[in-house]
Amino acid sequence: MKDTEILDLYPTHYAQARARFLAAAQAADATLYTQVLPDQVGPANEGLALDAAYVGAADASRVLVMLAGTHGSEAYAASPLMVAFLQAQKQVELAGDVGVLLVHAVNPYGFAHMLRTNENNVDLNRNFIDFSSPVPGNQGYRAIHPLICSGDHTEHGKAAARAALDAWIEENGQAAFFNAIFAGQYEVPDGLIYGGQERQWSNHALQNVADRFLGHARRIGFIDWHTGLGEYGQSFFLCFNEPGSPEWEHCCAWWGRDAIENKGGFGGAPRPRYSGLVFQGMREFCAQAEFSGAVIEFGTTPPEATIAGLQLDHRLRFDTMLEQEQRAVLHEQAMASFCPRDPQWRLDVMREGLWIVGRALDGLRA
Ligand SMILES: [Zn+2]
Repeated sequence: MKDTEILDLYPTHYAQARARFLAAAQAADATLYTQVLPDQVGPANEGLALDAAYVGAADASRVLVMLAGTHGSEAYAASPLMVAFLQAQKQVELAGDVGVLLVHAVNPYGFAHMLRTNENNVDLNRNFIDFSSPVPGNQGYRAIHPLICSGDHTEHGKAAARAALDAWIEENGQAAFFNAIFAGQYEVPDGLIYGGQERQWSNHALQNVADRFLGHARRIGFIDWHTGLGEYGQSFFLCFNEPGSPEWEHCCAWWGRDAIENKGGFGGAPRPRYSGLVFQGMREFCAQAEFSGAVIEFGTTPPEATIAGLQLDHRLRFDTMLEQEQRAVLHEQAMASFCPRDPQWRLDVMREGLWIVGRALDGLRA
């Protein structure tokens, strides 16, 4: 693909992305399954939906599953990757006993409104817990919430909150900080990385997709596309299979041991103790299959700016005092932290993304 063709695939808004995905899926003879998100619309009053497209033999025993937009605003990078994959599919049919399932807009509300979280401020990537048991506690988050979501956007207010947060980190350590922020929290509904108090619409919708398309799968390769963590424009893998298990070893074989066993991403601190990941949920929905895969991020901003990106996202949702013009500026900053407009970033992400998909398909076929 030429550079200009790649860059033209990056959407400017949800409705455009959705129309392109559906058109590419139809042209590739995919089987489509749409679930409409009730009672919500996008900023231009457009309807919102999760669309799934399946290509390849309907009863294939090996299936590559890809998700775009678990975090809505990150879909601006993953959606064009899916469209490019489908367009290539039109020319080359999938060989062998392999199917591909593409799930576009896991979080259509966030995608349309340029927000990470869904219509209830829930981070879907923390929502796949067993809500019949007590939810995981996160005391660290409760302690830092007033500092990271102070609501005071003056320079003075931000500096004071930052100083208090630095003091907290000094006392408790970097690893405790990353855990407090990223593990997930279930107590502060207007906070960051909130996992919710019940299964969300998208959680049920993904189970419906798995029931519809994955019952015959015996071997699944799974990619949940994200952006944010990692080196600028480069892939960063978070594999959630048991280290050393056959599933983990598949990921190493497909994408390289160095990439899978990479310890980076959190400034030298260990990976946070995430709860309720989509990865875990999908693995349970497909319990009959061997399930190997990863969250795959493309790096956008350095780690110290990641928190600022989350705060920006939070402000876009909760700051009701924002003027139209100011909102547009923040919106543009959000795009920069979730899908930079830098052409080189977009070209690198597309080429590397397609390579990652190709490797997984080769691996599943082998
Ligand atoms: Zn993400």
